[in-house]
Amino acid sequence: MSNPFSLSFPLLLTAGILLIQAHAETALQSSEQHTKNSHGLSQVAASSYVRPGHHGMIFESEDIANIGFIIGTECVAVVDTGGSYTEGMRLLQAIRSLTATPICYVINTHVHPDHMLGNKAFQQESTHFVGHQNLPQALGLVGDIFLDRLQTSKHSVQAATEIIFPDVLVSDTLQLDLGDRKLLLTAHDVAHTAADLSIYDPKDDVLWMGDLLFLGHTPALDGSLIGWIDEIEGLMQKQVAVVVPGHGPASVAWPQASHDLLRYLKGLRDETRVWIESGGDIQGAQEQLGLSERAHWQLFDQFHRRNVISAYAELEWE
Ligand SMILES: [Zn+2]
Repeated sequence: MSNPFSLSFPLLLTAGILLIQAHAETALQSSEQHTKNSHGLSQVAASSYVRPGHHGMIFESEDIANIGFIIGTECVAVVDTGGSYTEGMRLLQAIRSLTATPICYVINTHVHPDHMLGNKAFQQESTHFVGHQNLPQALGLVGDIFLDRLQTSKHSVQAATEIIFPDVLVSDTLQLDLGDRKLLLTAHDVAHTAADLSIYDPKDDVLWMGDLLFLGHTPALDGSLIGWIDEIEGLMQKQVAVVVPGHGPASVAWPQASHDLLRYLKGLRDETRVWIESGGDIQGAQEQLGLSERAHWQLFDQFHRRNVISAYAELEWE
């Protein structure tokens, strides 16, 4: 099920990352209120912990994305590592405050820097880094750009941050055994990016969606608009007790939590199609399409125009 649009992904990604601003705070409330412990962790299920992201801009704040981990009897699996080495170290300390179980796996849900620049903190011989089969290519294109941006950012303690590539690749699905539970990883077709992974823990009935799911913060389209809609509609068929979004509350109710994102993506698709069919150009599209969504999202002006450019570039070839 390859997506022809994936051919243009590297260019879009490179251009997009340079422009990307941030993921910001969400005004939405979690479907369940979790009390954070002293390490800022929210326990979203029996063995599943989320360090919710805070408000801020990529390369200015390190702790923007929701990151977390799942504790098994034999292994811990980390899901994303934050925006710098120091942020990864904070997550490591948070894990060690709860368990001494070996960290066998670090799973990166996609290529964006707020999710994977903390990998270095977990680098040990016994730890495997797991990613989508397209993640190495994506990291090869933008990894050095991330590091340059980080070095020139307001943070002064980022010298230890490195790009750590995955050594376990997921091309379709992959099971990771943590002892008492087997995680099911799914490599998605091109959607939010070309390298989106989701992680399902059947024992806790938790689905970690990475940035396939945004709440409150304007979605960042870096892959395929049509593909993203398809993936979300597919995932909506799943009955899951707990969903962890890449940005937003630590956990949300599913499939209700997909509502805003789908409305945004479908509106963008429909308006862009009409615009292209009527002969409109890309400049006008940026100025006029999708503006009814502004009131629903934070950082709309920073992200929406770029999304329109991506949508136009994709849909003009239909
Ligand atoms: Zn993100």
